[in-house]
Amino acid sequence: MEQYKGRSISLKIAAGPVFYYEKKQNRVKREHVEDTEAELRRLEEAKTAALEQLDRIYQKALKEAGQEDAAVFEVHKMLMEDKDYQESIRNIIEEQQVNAAYAAATAGDHFAAMLSEMEDVYMQARAADIRDVTERLVAALLGRDTDAADPDGPVILAAEDLAPSETVQMDKSKILAFVIRNGSANSHTAILARSMNIPAIMGVEVSREWNGRQAVVDGTAGTVVIDPDDSYLEEIRGKMAEETRRQTLLRELKGKPTVTKQGRAVRLYANIGNVTDIVNVQEYDAEGIGLFRSEFLYLGAKDFPTEEEQFLAYKQVAESMAGKKVIIRTLDIGADKKADYFQLEPEENPAMGYRAIRICLTRPEILKTQLRAILRASAYGNISVMFPMIISLGEVRKIKTIVEEVKGELKAAQFPYRDVELGVMIETPAAVLISRELAKEVDFFSIGTNDLTQYMLAADRQNPRLDAFYDGHHPAVLEAIRMVTENGHREGIWVGICGELAADLSLTKTFVDMGIDELSVAPGCVLQVREAIRELS
Ligand code: PEP
Ligand code: MG
Repeated sequence: MEQYKGRSISLKIAAGPVFYYEKKQNRVKREHVEDTEAELRRLEEAKTAALEQLDRIYQKALKEAGQEDAAVFEVHKMLMEDKDYQESIRNIIEEQQVNAAYAAATAGDHFAAMLSEMEDVYMQARAADIRDVTERLVAALLGRDTDAADPDGPVILAAEDLAPSETVQMDKSKILAFVIRNGSANSHTAILARSMNIPAIMGVEVSREWNGRQAVVDGTAGTVVIDPDDSYLEEIRGKMAEETRRQTLLRELKGKPTVTKQGRAVRLYANIGNVTDIVNVQEYDAEGIGLFRSEFLYLGAKDFPTEEEQFLAYKQVAESMAGKKVIIRTLDIGADKKADYFQLEPEENPAMGYRAIRICLTRPEILKTQLRAILRASAYGNISVMFPMIISLGEVRKIKTIVEEVKGELKAAQFPYRDVELGVMIETPAAVLISRELAKEVDFFSIGTNDLTQYMLAADRQNPRLDAFYDGHHPAVLEAIRMVTENGHREGIWVGICGELAADLSLTKTFVDMGIDELSVAPGCVLQVREAIRELS
C-alpha cells in the first residue's frame, strides 16, 4: 500500500482502478529525411492502421449509439482516403524531404483552413473532421494511440495536468475521481470537478506505474492510496457510510426555503458548465442557475459552436429549469480556457491578457452569434445574461449597443425573445472601485471571487505554488465584496456571488450580514449552504 498527500478540492471519497491519462501530443517536429521512399511507405502503413481503428470505432458506435452517431466515422474514413489529401501529404514529403508526421500535420492544417473559409456551412463543418482525421493519422505515424484517452469503465483518472478543454470532453459517468500533479485548487479543472461532484486531489506525484491498480481517493484527508490493504479499506468503508448518512440528512432540506431563523431569504443558485449538469442542479434542489459558464460549450467543440447549436443548449437549460432563473455568462475564454480554433497567441501574462469580454468586444461577430442564441432561447424560460472581466463603463455601453443591435435583427427576422436582465461580473479591482457607476448601467452584479481574489492579491490562481497566497478571506477581498454590495444596493440592483467563495461555510454569515442577495455554488454544495443559512439567527 502506498499513500500520497495532495490538496483536496472536495470532501468526497472514491475507490476504483486507476487510469493513467496520456495527453494527446499535437505538436509535431519537422525533420529532414533522406529516404523519402521509406517515409511514403510509413505513411501508407499508418493510413491502413488508422482506417482499421476507424472501422473498429464505427462498429462500436453503431452498436452503442446508433447509425446517426456512427456516421461521422464513415465520413472520417472517406476523408482519410481522400485522394487530394493523401497526395498533398506525399508531395510535401517528396518536395520538402520531411518526415511523414510533419507532412500530414501541415497538409491537415492547410485543408482545415481552406474548408473553414468556405461559404457552405456543411463544408465549414468538415474542417473539424479533417483535423480529427489528421490527428489520428499523425498519432499512428508516431506510434501513439489517439483513443487511449477514453477509459472503458469507471476509473480514478490520474494525469500530469489536465486542461479544462480536456476535462469537459470526458465522459463523466466514467470518472470516479481526478488525481492531478500540476494544478491549483482554484483552476477551472478543479472547479469543473467540483461542479461534476467528483473528488479531486491536486499536487500529487502521479505515476504511469499506477495504471490499472486499485486506489482510494479520500478528499477528506487529501490522500490517494494505491493498492489499499484490508484494514485501510475497512476504515474507508466506515468513512463512506458516514458520508452517505450525512448526505441523507442534507437531502431532507430539499424543497425547504433558504432563509435564516429571522426570516431573511437568500437566493441559492447553482453554477453549471454544461447542459448535462442540470441533473445535479435538480438533484440538489438549486433555486436557479447563477452562472452558466457558456465557454465550456466552446471548449467541448472542435470549432465555433453555431448559433443554432448554442440556441438549442440554452433553450434546453431554460426549459428544464421551468421558469427558474438561468444566468448565462457570455464567453469567458482565454487564460487557462483555450480552444485551438480561436487561434489565440501565447501570452506572457495570460490571466491579465486577451480574454473574456476583451475578445468578445474586439471580435464582436462571436459575441453577436452568442447573444442571438441567448436571446432566442429567452423566449423559452427565465434567462438573464452577464458579462465577465469588466473593467470600464465604456465596455458596458458597447455591450448594450450590441445587445440592442441583436434585438433589432431578431425582431426583423421575427424571432421571439424577452427583455432579459443584463448584469456584469465584478472580478477586477477596477470594477469594484467604479461599482457605483456600473450599477447605474445594469440590472445586477455577480461577484466572481475566483478572479477577484487573484487580481486583488496579485496571485495567479493557476499557480499551485501560490495556493497559500491566494486567500479569499483576505480583508481586501472581503472589503471589496462589502463595497460592491453596498454600491449595488444604493442604486437599487441586486448583488450575488458566484465564485467558489460563495460555498465557503465559514463566510456564509459574513455574506448574509453584508446583505448579499444571491449565492451561486457548485450543485453538490447547495444543500450544505442551505443548512448553514437556515442555522443563522
Ligand atoms: C470567478 O472568477 O469567480 C468566476 C465565477 O468565473 P471563473 O471561475 O469561470 O473565472
Ligand atoms: Mg472569472
